[in-house]
Amino acid sequence: MGQGLEKIEALMAEMAHNCTSCGECVRPCSFLQQQGTPAAIAGRGTAESNLLSAFGCSLCGLCDAVCPEALSPSEMLRSMRQQAASRGLVDLKTYAPWLNYEKLGASVIFRRDLIPDNCTTVFFPGCSLPGTRPDAVRELFTRLRKIEPTAGLVLDCCGKISHDLGLTDRFTVVFDRLSERLRHNGITCILTACPGCSKILGKYGENFEVVSIYEILAACSVPRPPDSTTTIVIHDPCPARFDAAQQTAVRQLVQSCGYRIEELASHGQQTRCCGQGGMVEGCVPGTVKQESRVIAAEAGGRPVISSCGACCDTLSNSTLTAHVADLLTNTPAFSSKPVSSARRWFNRLKLRFARLT
Ligand code: SF4
Ligand code: SF4
Repeated sequence: MGQGLEKIEALMAEMAHNCTSCGECVRPCSFLQQQGTPAAIAGRGTAESNLLSAFGCSLCGLCDAVCPEALSPSEMLRSMRQQAASRGLVDLKTYAPWLNYEKLGASVIFRRDLIPDNCTTVFFPGCSLPGTRPDAVRELFTRLRKIEPTAGLVLDCCGKISHDLGLTDRFTVVFDRLSERLRHNGITCILTACPGCSKILGKYGENFEVVSIYEILAACSVPRPPDSTTTIVIHDPCPARFDAAQQTAVRQLVQSCGYRIEELASHGQQTRCCGQGGMVEGCVPGTVKQESRVIAAEAGGRPVISSCGACCDTLSNSTLTAHVADLLTNTPAFSSKPVSSARRWFNRLKLRFARLT
């Protein structure tokens, strides 16, 4: 029997009781369109097939955002994943590419602590930004150092992949090792660049203040008059759905570079997952293509800016895309090509051994 059976049974009973099956969350979600309302899913209980169905949900949280009863179907679905994993029902080979990516990224080969004397604040760029944009990481760090001269830099993985796959033991190992190391070095504040790291560190790093680096940089930025020839749209990453401060900061930085912003129909709390969330692609191939095309269609040919390296890579297959950090580095900003896997590892290694002052 898996861990936390009572907890998941209680969550499902509560959902079955409180969900009115109004359908608000079903309309924008292809997973719920197939599986039925959260009440229907909860009503099917903890049978193996029902628990495994939760791996088709991206854990994007749009259902939580639209529910008039303030329920959290995404939390129930993540707990279903945890229960399936703890019972040994999940075929981990399906998720090997993601798990290997996490394992290698959190290994000594790619980890780095640059923690100067008197440092209490570190920049934690996560995995995808160093892999896709090492120069942007350097630029963000340089700008941060001008604001906070004793700031440090930590390259590591927060463990979100194991977390979202419901692999609690694996997640705990990765996360505890990171947080213990930071605590041991006297770190009290973590500045993130990846919305996924922000969410995980904000939820589990209870002894740390967690703030996106965009908020720190935006506070020092000066908006430029918009260039009327360049109108862009912003894709808010789904882990930052409820992080209004981060969303506002990204918009301020974009405006400081002179871009005119138009909002997508799905933005802020109503933003959509790009398709990468929850590693759904592992069990439902084609999800990434399908979901990213929905966002590209909303963009309607306007270039997209996001603050998530993974979203940028995904969306660049369907539309011109840039990371907000690209704009700050003055590199050719908009790309229509994702970064190859080999290049990502090379970039991360380069940053691991780069001379940074
Ligand atoms: S978390 Fe996202 S994918 Fe999962 S049920 Fe909710 S809206 Fe659908
Ligand atoms: S929006 Fe809320 S109440 Fe309506 S079907 Fe979804 S979970 Fe149930």
